[in-house]
Amino acid sequence: DLPPLYIITPTYRRAEQLAELTRLSHTLMLVPNLIWLVIEDAYSTNSLVDDILKRSGIRYHYMIAPMPVQYKNKTKGPRPRGVSNRNKGLEWIRENAYSGAFYFADDDNTYDLTLFNEIRYTKTVSMFPVGLITKAGVSSPIVKNGTFRGFYDGWIGGRKFAVDMAGFAVSVSFFLSRPQASMPFKPGFEEDGFLKSLAPFEPFEAELLASNCTKILVWHTQTKKNEPAWSLDYSKYNNTNLI
Ligand code: UDP
Ligand code: MN
Repeated sequence: DLPPLYIITPTYRRAEQLAELTRLSHTLMLVPNLIWLVIEDAYSTNSLVDDILKRSGIRYHYMIAPMPVQYKNKTKGPRPRGVSNRNKGLEWIRENAYSGAFYFADDDNTYDLTLFNEIRYTKTVSMFPVGLITKAGVSSPIVKNGTFRGFYDGWIGGRKFAVDMAGFAVSVSFFLSRPQASMPFKPGFEEDGFLKSLAPFEPFEAELLASNCTKILVWHTQTKKNEPAWSLDYSKYNNTNLI
């Protein structure tokens, strides 16, 4: 039997949301023994999102976790995007899961199916390259002769774990053995803070996947920003030519 794989996906309302979730659902539909935790940064769920999840046939739990107002109202500097969502997913894992592995899969990235069948066997924390990220092109553990030598990332920023959110997966039982583990509301340091909260755990202990980090199985794609969330109620708009 395959170990269960929990996918934690933060999402939020914007013009691209339903397109991103449709694409991601069609990827995850092809993955066996998967439980999809979709957590929206909002004060209520959205039936259009729920329809996509339902139609996928995937086992899912759709939850909400709004970004705390002090961050949402911030006028300067980056916000901790998706952090309250991921912490909600982690809470769900603590209460409901006991084996397998979990992975933080943002709604806009691109995933090779091979990735899911590698990460579900994670015993502690596994790591692998992420493509299309920053000008550096890739974020990855540096591996020489099969052993970990450090991290390559467009922004090291003094981090112990210079990895992207899409570049690691965690064993459920390992996570459950760290009752304090959670993600900090600290833009740029979410991954580092979360992985540090799994102490004792050192970078060299990471399980190196994707053929010793020589293959790219996930890309940090970003969809071009469009106008705010849109509606098919055409009467709300001026761009009409009614007969
Ligand atoms: N996200 C969110 N609330 C926000 C902005 C983003 O829940 O206000 C989610 C988004 O759907 C995605 C994740 O957080 O799954 C990371 O956001 P984004 O893709 O915008 O970050 P980037 O790719 O720029 O790092
Ligand atoms: Mn993104």
